[in-house]
Amino acid sequence: MLSSILDNQLIDNYEELNKIKLKKDEMMNNEIDTQYTRYATCPYCGYENWDSWELHLDSGTEIEVDCGKCEKTYLVFCDIDITYCSNKKEG
Ligand SMILES: [Zn+2]
Repeated sequence: MLSSILDNQLIDNYEELNKIKLKKDEMMNNEIDTQYTRYATCPYCGYENWDSWELHLDSGTEIEVDCGKCEKTYLVFCDIDITYCSNKKEG
């Protein structure tokens, strides 16, 4: 049964994953590495927004961020990895 639960999870995320891949293709010409970075990275100057964990993004949601260095506005698209922790139920 566990595998079917995981399959459903994958199907739920499939559409979002596709959107993320399309977004990545769109930005492939960008010289600054802004894809799947630890922090939100400005595509104009490469400045890393170290407060990106404070943005409270939902996976698949795109928001506008003002760069802390060049002050240009760019779009951040959040990719959240889902992991599981399983523990035996006592009793
Ligand atoms: Zn910038």
